[in-house]
Order: sequence, then C-alpha cells, then structure tokens
Amino acid sequence: MTPLARMSRAEAARLDGLLFDLDDTLLSHGVLTREAYGALWDLHASGLRLVAVTGRPSGWGEVVVRQWPIDGAVTENGAAHVVREGRGVAVSMEGDAETRHSRRARLDALVHAAAREVPSAILADDVHARRSDVAWDIGERVRLEEDEALALARLVISHGARTTRSSVHLHASFEADDKASGVVRFLRTRFGEDAGRALGRYAFIGDSANDSACFAAFRTTFGVANVRAHLGRLVVPPRWVATEERGAGFVEVARVLVAARQS
Ligand SMILES: [Mg+2]
Repeated sequence: MTPLARMSRAEAARLDGLLFDLDDTLLSHGVLTREAYGALWDLHASGLRLVAVTGRPSGWGEVVVRQWPIDGAVTENGAAHVVREGRGVAVSMEGDAETRHSRRARLDALVHAAAREVPSAILADDVHARRSDVAWDIGERVRLEEDEALALARLVISHGARTTRSSVHLHASFEADDKASGVVRFLRTRFGEDAGRALGRYAFIGDSANDSACFAAFRTTFGVANVRAHLGRLVVPPRWVATEERGAGFVEVARVLVAARQS
C-alpha cells in the first residue's frame, strides 16, 4: 500500500465514479459523521457516480438510495441491487422465484444447524432486512471468539454456501456474486458500462475481508487506515491507503478526488 498523498492528480481526475463500502469505511463504528456525509455531497457535486457496495441488507439499500446523493447500492455482498426509481426504489436480484425460495430454505436450515453447533453465535440484528443471505454478529453488538467464527465459517462451507466477513458480520450466501462481480454487473445493467472499462474508471474504497474481491479487481483502490488490521485476510491490499481511519479516512480520500477534479 502506498500513502494516498503520493497518488497522482491524473489518476484521480480520470475516474468516473467511486464505489464505497459502508461499515468502518464511510461509517465510523456504525455512525455516519457530519464530515463523512458532507464528503458524499462533495463527491456528488464533483460529478462522480457514487455506489455503495456493502454486506448490509437490501433493506438498508432501500433507505440510503432514497436519502443520500448516490446512484445506487449494491447490497448483501453483491447479490441485491437497489436504485431510486421515480419517487420510490427498485430492488433487483438474479434467479427466478423458485430458485429464491429454495435458497431461502437452505439458508433457514443453515441457521438451525448453526444454532445447534455454534450456539454462541448470534444472528446480526439486521437479518430481517435481508433478501439473499444471513449474517451472524462477530463484532457489532457482541464479539465472537475467533475459533468460534472459524467453526461457523466451516459449517457454512459444509452446507455448500459461500462465506465472507466484514469487520462486524460473518455472512452465508448461496448467491454467485461477490462484491466485485456484483458491482460490475450493476454498472453494466444500470449504466451500460463495459466491464473491462469499469474496472479502470471506477475506484473502490473499503476496509476489510469482504472488500477483498474489489481490492483485487479494480485498478484504483483505497483503504482507510483501519484496513491494516485486516491485511492478513486480503489477497491483494488496496493500492492507496489513507492516514485516517473509518469516516475520517473516507473524507481524506474524497478531498483528494474532489481537488483533482477541480484542477
Ligand atoms: Mg467494511
């Protein structure tokens, strides 16, 4: 990782958009600070397309695309895409009703198995707003011991599901997408972006393991300073790193991008 201060203006200026993680990237311990919210508006005013890319539920996506100056939300780690449509919102997912029903039944079975085999693991408090996955709390309201988190991940995999983790949740999903493939699919279907071009013209900013696919896929990637705690779980680290953590790091990156576009 190279300090953000060394990034060239040219690299920042040629971007069409910024894809951003929520927890511990835009949000600071779950809170959207005044400064981070202001930075979103500044990025929007600079003409950058803005897409939240999060492990949080599609139900959260429905709220933020209504209220924030953003162009969409790719939620549930790539599976559920949410956009503003007229005065409301539209949520889209892959797969027909039968596929969705069968995946939900398998997730329910997995939740029952987890309650039996890793009883200390409790579900995240946002599961009711999810459409495609389940999440257990590993560091939001409670902290799950690492050996128990590993046991939970093994159980998820033994059920044929995929697992990933953010700083707060461990996820299980039967969907095909990760954050990178999910957001590229979103940029193609929503804006007609060529996938190869999108990887060079959209930057990504994140902090932890469920951002790994985006750090590997996109050319211009940023980590907020707290990404250092998760480097052991990243195949490819972000190219640029902010000096500040969480929302303050997001603000730092936003200032660099906005300044480059004004010059
Ligand atoms: Mg995060």
